[in-house]
Amino acid sequence: MATNPKVKADLKFTQIDPRTWSTVGTQGNVYTLSLLSSSLHCNCPAGRHRKNCYHADRLAQLFKAELNDCLASF
Ligand SMILES: [Zn+2]
Repeated sequence: MATNPKVKADLKFTQIDPRTWSTVGTQGNVYTLSLLSSSLHCNCPAGRHRKNCYHADRLAQLFKAELNDCLASF
């Protein structure tokens, strides 16, 4: 089994609306992820610098089918 070393913990996501999720980071901070113009944006420090953060990576893995549906509708 290959595991992604970037994914440190099993994150839990709460869906707020069809394009918005919140998650709790390793430090207990709450971050919000939004699906905007065909990409995921996260408001954690990495996300704000337009880097790929592991929250977005993990959310994309978990909701790949759903997100693909969303992206296809754009
Ligand atoms: Zn993030």
